[in-house]
Amino acid sequence: MAERWSLGRALRGMFVRPKIDDDTWDDLETALLTADFGPDITEEVIEDLREKVARYGTTDPADLQRMLRESLEERFARFDTTLTLTERPAVVLVVGVNGVGKTTTIGKFAHFLRRYGRSIVVGAADTFRAAAVDQLATWAERGGAAIVRPQQEGQDPASVAFQTITYAKETGTEIVLVDTAGRLHTKGGLMDELTKIRRVIEKQAPISEVLLVLDATTGQNGVKQAEAFLQHAGVTGLVITKLDGSAKGGFVLSVQERTGIPVKLLGQGEGIGDLTGFTPHVFVEQLVS
Ligand code: GDP
Ligand code: GDP
Ligand code: MG
Repeated sequence: MAERWSLGRALRGMFVRPKIDDDTWDDLETALLTADFGPDITEEVIEDLREKVARYGTTDPADLQRMLRESLEERFARFDTTLTLTERPAVVLVVGVNGVGKTTTIGKFAHFLRRYGRSIVVGAADTFRAAAVDQLATWAERGGAAIVRPQQEGQDPASVAFQTITYAKETGTEIVLVDTAGRLHTKGGLMDELTKIRRVIEKQAPISEVLLVLDATTGQNGVKQAEAFLQHAGVTGLVITKLDGSAKGGFVLSVQERTGIPVKLLGQGEGIGDLTGFTPHVFVEQLVS
């Protein structure tokens, strides 16, 4: 697990050095920037660590490693990463630009929830591309979820969402995951579509979570592309995908601080089991040791 993010690898070399010196600080800065913590967090963390190292008068790299872990954990802990899924049905809307991993995440999330004994239905409200419905159906089957599909091609996404909630209520299904489109002719059109989906769902049930999916490999640029969702979609949590082999673990912290929205799930591969909740302590452990 520790090999997943290169920050761990880059740092390990420095912590086996005999003592903390100028090279240590340079290498730490490079490692944090490479891992996509961003310039602001990198500068603040290094300042914090320099101050602590001076205060404790230590030259031991093992102390620095422990301080780094504490400093990152403290920053991660400012956000509540718990998913709110207590309503019945609990409705989760999954949004984000094309190709970030929305549909895949829904399949993995269904599988994840099944392990806690929950019953799940997914709604194919990405009716923009016909192939999207079949892809979701494949993932629903893998994840052990039922699916509500459009009854005809290009059906109003809001009406598919409506029918999905109806299905959940009639069958007593506990959790509803709604897949949505990532691209329309205009961003305004997509935001209007999402607003309509939300309004139609809320006629029947409150929405528990609106999860914005972001691809770690696109970094800050991906956040820029998702700006409209952050402004208009009522996002309550972030899902960071493609962390496997991306070497961009720091993105998880920088995106959280930049958007002010907690990261709630991590995607770490294309397999059905490759989704985890976000536990800062475990995550930092993987990054730093
Ligand atoms: P959508 O357009 O947002 O619904 O994105 P998809 O779910 O169709 O995923 C787009 C591509 O990203 C697919 O090839 C997925 O297999 C891939 N993908 C999704 N999540 C992950 C992940 O966590 N790791 C990796 N390596 N690939 C992922
Ligand atoms: P409008 O299309 O702007 O008038 O928005 P509405 O809130 O009236 O409905 C949006 C979509 O949700 C429509 O396409 C309807 O198909 C669907 N919808 C709304 N209410 C119902 C309902 O009671 N039953 C069903 N099956 N669909 C509904
Ligand atoms: Mg999709």
